[in-house]
Amino acid sequence: MIDKYFRRINRLRISVTDLCNLRCIYCRPESGLDLAKHKDILTYEEIVAVVQHAVKLGIKSFRLTGGEPLFRKNIENLLWMLGNVHGIEDLAMTTNGIYLKNYTKVLKAIGLFRLNISLDSLDKSKFEVITRGGKLKDVLDGIDEVLHLGFKNTKINVVAMKGVNDNEFEEFAKLTLDRNLEVRFIEYMAMNKKSLDSEDKYIPMANIIDILGKRNELKALAPPMLGSGAAKLYKINGARGTLGFVSAVSQPFCNSCNRLRLTAEGKLRSCLLSGGEVDLKTILRNNPTEAQLTDAFLRAASLKPSVHAGKGHVMMHEVGG
Ligand code: SAM
Repeated sequence: MIDKYFRRINRLRISVTDLCNLRCIYCRPESGLDLAKHKDILTYEEIVAVVQHAVKLGIKSFRLTGGEPLFRKNIENLLWMLGNVHGIEDLAMTTNGIYLKNYTKVLKAIGLFRLNISLDSLDKSKFEVITRGGKLKDVLDGIDEVLHLGFKNTKINVVAMKGVNDNEFEEFAKLTLDRNLEVRFIEYMAMNKKSLDSEDKYIPMANIIDILGKRNELKALAPPMLGSGAAKLYKINGARGTLGFVSAVSQPFCNSCNRLRLTAEGKLRSCLLSGGEVDLKTILRNNPTEAQLTDAFLRAASLKPSVHAGKGHVMMHEVGG
């Protein structure tokens, strides 16, 4: 599928649940969320039907996210079902890693899976504060297991926040010295009024590259073919792993955006922050023809804005980060 700005749409990001076991300060309010009712969430069969149709339209790369994908009941059933869909070339997941060690073997057995693990502090107490109660050790154990089992292209997502984790960038970067992973710094995005105030916390990526470049010999890398996404890549001289920098705010990459998003409630969204959406769930629950499903995808692609509106009015857990 090509949209009206000549971008090839070949990726779909799927939020499998709006529930999360953590309440990260920059993502969710502590309480008072309107969560979807179970009957309004797509079933695994419906998600797989969407994926099968997407593959026919040339979308071959899928990422599961949420909420927390590993928090949805019997998620391994969906993983196995997706593992059996013919034509998928790339299957990935973004997870907070708390439950990861329970699932690494299933994920490895299914194959294909690339993992992005969110981790915003290496300090036990700070991690607990940022996540409002998460245990750092659970995530670190999950990462160790992922590395031990030899998953390829593993990324650690670090949302950079002034006054929160900006004294840890060097420590994060050092993880790449002897580990085969990418530490990926992400600019803090203002998603909605209920999340952390972005004006105080936002750090442009250029500053982080500068800080790390003063202490380390950084080499710029060309993006790899798979999973390069929007990151600028560097390597510390002699390191096993790489550093990635995602500047979604200071340098939006809308002109190369190649994805649609499926929300947990079955809305096919054209953009994370702005643009319209198509109610795919209603179509799916009315015995659709192939042509109707294709039409839904084409409509969603046609709604993609040329550039997103900057600040969003969405909750990350609803849309899927
Ligand atoms: N629960 C999973 C996790 O924690 O990775 C998946 C969902 S989470 C919403 C997906 C990603 O969005 C995480 O890497 C998280 O750090 C990122 N994220 C959430 N809110 C953000 C914000 N305001 N700015 C930048 N990244 C954000």
